[in-house]
Amino acid sequence: MGNAFSFVLTYILAKKLNAQILLRIDDLDNQRFRPEYLEDIFKSLDWLGIEWDEGPFSIQEFQQQYSQIHRIPLYQKALQNLQEAGLIFPCSCSRLQTQNGHDRKICIADDIKEKSLRINTQNAKLHSRLVDFVVKRKEGIFSYQFASVVDDQYFNCNTIIRGEDLRDSSQAQIWLASYFPGHPFAKALFLHHPLITDKEGNKLSKSLGAQSLHEIRKTKSPTFIYKEVGHLLGEKNIQTLEELLSLPQSRFDQVISTLSIKTPFDLRS
Ligand SMILES: [Zn+2]
Repeated sequence: MGNAFSFVLTYILAKKLNAQILLRIDDLDNQRFRPEYLEDIFKSLDWLGIEWDEGPFSIQEFQQQYSQIHRIPLYQKALQNLQEAGLIFPCSCSRLQTQNGHDRKICIADDIKEKSLRINTQNAKLHSRLVDFVVKRKEGIFSYQFASVVDDQYFNCNTIIRGEDLRDSSQAQIWLASYFPGHPFAKALFLHHPLITDKEGNKLSKSLGAQSLHEIRKTKSPTFIYKEVGHLLGEKNIQTLEELLSLPQSRFDQVISTLSIKTPFDLRS
């Protein structure tokens, strides 16, 4: 549900900015990825009336051209560049251990076999949750933070629209991108929107519990999602996507915050 809300808001904002929309579906984590999820994404976007300019338009197209599997050589090359810059080290610590301050020298020297590869963030001003974040998990899978930065360069993404909850993540990615020559994040626009909440202020996705979009689609029209987005933008009686698109820019400016970073290098201390 939260995703549907975010999709609609992203679509509206992109249209307002005259931006092109890229549909990117992450599937590096094969253990969690199922082909039926793909079909569900296409069906949900169709149900919401959302169109995109770039990216897969069918399961087949996704598998043939857009799956992250095809970009593994790019991730490997990017990792190699960071390794050559001396930024990557092996570590078997938990997130809590890194947050509490792990000794990188001990991490590198210990003889534990199963280690993930982390990036040394000591020169970055990042949220403690993202200190020395993982770039490649011990199972050999490239992390979301890392793959995402490589992908955004590959697709030349210069406008990023996300929920407030990913603000810290954006900072980490902008910092990481500063080590990628020519990365579009050096001049990218980052917009963060509030998350949809219920009357008690809980994330909607949480309050609706197990009720997935898949289930909701069967019985409901997407109008209630447009309404929720309208509500966020201070308009009570929104019925359609077109009505959302016709709202004045000032309504968006009131609720959407820009991540104010002049250059990625501002994040280095
Ligand atoms: Zn460690």
